[in-house]
This record gives sequence, C-alpha cells and structure tokens, in this order.
Amino acid sequence: MGLKSLDKIADALEKRPAELEQLRKEGKKVVGWLAYNIPEEIIYALGLIPIRVGKGGDGRLVEVGARHISTKNCVFVRHALGQFAEKTDPYIKQLDLVAIDATCIQLYRFEELINFYFGYKTIVLGVPRNFATQEGHEYFRKEVEFFTKRLEEFAGVTLEQSKLEEAIKIYDGIRQAIKTLYRYQSLNNAPLSWREVSSVINAGYNLDRRQYLELLEELIVEAEEHLSERSANENIEARIFLSGSLIPPGDTKLVDIIEHLGGRIIGDDLWSGLNFFLNLEIKEPTPYGVADAYLDRVPHGSLPYLDLASDGRLSNLKEQLKAFDADGIIYHTLRYCDAFTFKAGETKDVLGSLPFLEIHTEYSGSDYEAIRTRVEAFIEMIKSKKEIAELV
Ligand code: SF4
Repeated sequence: MGLKSLDKIADALEKRPAELEQLRKEGKKVVGWLAYNIPEEIIYALGLIPIRVGKGGDGRLVEVGARHISTKNCVFVRHALGQFAEKTDPYIKQLDLVAIDATCIQLYRFEELINFYFGYKTIVLGVPRNFATQEGHEYFRKEVEFFTKRLEEFAGVTLEQSKLEEAIKIYDGIRQAIKTLYRYQSLNNAPLSWREVSSVINAGYNLDRRQYLELLEELIVEAEEHLSERSANENIEARIFLSGSLIPPGDTKLVDIIEHLGGRIIGDDLWSGLNFFLNLEIKEPTPYGVADAYLDRVPHGSLPYLDLASDGRLSNLKEQLKAFDADGIIYHTLRYCDAFTFKAGETKDVLGSLPFLEIHTEYSGSDYEAIRTRVEAFIEMIKSKKEIAELV
C-alpha cells in the first residue's frame, strides 16, 4: 500500500498552477530558476515565489529547442529551450523573471537565448571557476550581493534580516527532511522507493516551501510508522547508485529500464537529486553568508577541479556509495553534456573495483534496446557476484 502523504504531495502539486495564477493576480511575482547555485532562500525571503524549471525526456521538445541553439548543446538545454519556445508548461508560462547561474556555461548561453528570442526578463548569477580559492569566494560574494540588489529592485522591497533567517530555517528543514527520506528509501525494509523520493523532490521545487516542509514532515512520520511494520526483502538484489548528468522530471527512461530489470536504485549524487541538499550550512544570515555556504558545498561536475585527491565531488561520491551500501554505479551522461562525459573516466578510475557502467543517452527512444541490454548484463553480473559471495 502506498503512503498517503505521497498522494497529498501529488494533490498539492496538481493544484499549484491554478494557485500560482491566483497569486499572480494578487500581485505576487514568480521567479523561475535553473542550475545549481541560485540561492533560493534570498528569492523566498523577498516575498517572490521560486520555481525550479527544466524538464527532460521529450525528444520532440529537444527538436524545437534546436531551432534556436546549436545541436552541439546538451539535450537538457535544448529541451528547456523547447519548453520556453512552446510555453505550454503550466509553470513556464507564469514566470515573471528567470534567474540562471553560470555554473554550467551551456545554461549561461541559454539565458541569452530566452531573453532574445522569447522576451523573458532574466538575471544571471556569475559563478567562479576557481571556486575553492579565497578570490573565488570574494567574487561570488559580490555576485550574490548584486543578485540580491537586482531582485530587491524587481520585488520592490528590501531584504530584511528576519525574513532571510526565516527562509534559511525553512530551507534547512527541507534539506534535513530530504536527507532523512533518502536514508529511509535505501533501507532493506524501505517504505518508499528512490523513484518516489525523486518525485517528492521535484514536486517541492514547485510548491510553496513552507507548505512543502510540512508535507515532508508528515511523510517522514508516516514512513517511520511503516518502516517498523515491514520485513526486509530477502532476495538478492542489485543496489544501483546513479551518478553523472542530471535526471530531470520527465526523463524516466533509464530509471524505468533499471527497475523493469529488477535493479533497485538506492542513491545518487546527481545535481537533480541528493547533491543539491548536501553540506549546505549557512552560518551567517546575510547574502555573504549565503554565498559562502553555496560555494562550499559539493561542487557541480561542470566546475573544473584538477586535483583528484581533494576533489569534493569525488570524495562525496565515495562517501555516498558507502553510506547507501551500493553494489554498482551507473554513470549516466546526456548527449553533449561535456561536463560529466569528460569526467566519466576519472570517476571510474577513482572508484577502483566497484562495478561501473557508463550509459550515454538522450531523450529519444532510439537507444532504449541498446541501454536495456547493457543494464540487464550489469544487473545480472552484480547479482551473480553477490550469490557467489553468499556461498563462500
Ligand atoms: S551540466 Fe551537462 S546536462 Fe547540465 S546543463 Fe550543463 S551540459 Fe547540460
């Protein structure tokens, strides 16, 4: 039996576009944002409504987007452009401003295009390439300060410290709750699946954050009740960890294949998944404090980091693989996502003997069978390895 709180979240999500329409009639403004380093707390504290945009999985929208950008750009960016070109998405058509951070250069380019072709008001947050240095921090502090000023002008209000403190508290609560849900879904007697947690995360990017936190708290209580009732699965299972390019809402191809073949996804370090909620501790409730916290968390794969020994992305990946007790890793890369494609080799080398499968894909269904065959062999290999280990 499914958890009732999941239905409640789905229900809130269904009502949200109409709710936003009403809020806009009452004078509220909606800020869509994309990428990894937009400090949502500041948007929220200014009384603006943050919505994370960008979906995947529809080959047709990739074609529509490709009319406005080179086909050598990643399919996620082309898909997002297709969404902005068509404006049928219930959220995209309600955006009053779009904020984009320049973590990935391809998204930076995307900002110019939605502004030029589709007339969206945009704002860019610069992100330093040398993010681990003092100079990088100073640059980002100034960027966040400037970003805040532009948002204040847009909102017609000044950022109040008490409002920022309140926002930080809500977002901290959300981050804690998501981490707890990830832990629960990975357990042997899990009351919910990775796919369900992923849908909960995606729902949260659209909902009012205070309401979302309350829904998450309810979900955790319900999950805990079911946790004690369920007995552990005694079958040998392949515990799969996902890494690489993002898997946005709508892109279910790989997840469908893994689950259909009997694999169980138990964790990820995706920028559309758990990484977004990790290691973000705002020590000082000011734009500078927010800037430092965002820059110090797990770095995004598109930021260059040349020293493998101290690369935060890799050390986080190793930690998560251990914490989630992964049997193997599927490293998923999207076509023309250079950032993660070029990091596949070093990631595999650093992980040593853990079974590793790289899947390079896009949003059309033409490679479905090829992926299915490779994932099937990978899952079988993991299961036989475990069976042999049990016999020894
Ligand atoms: S990181 Fe990869 S998938 Fe994400 S926007 Fe950049 S190129 Fe595209």
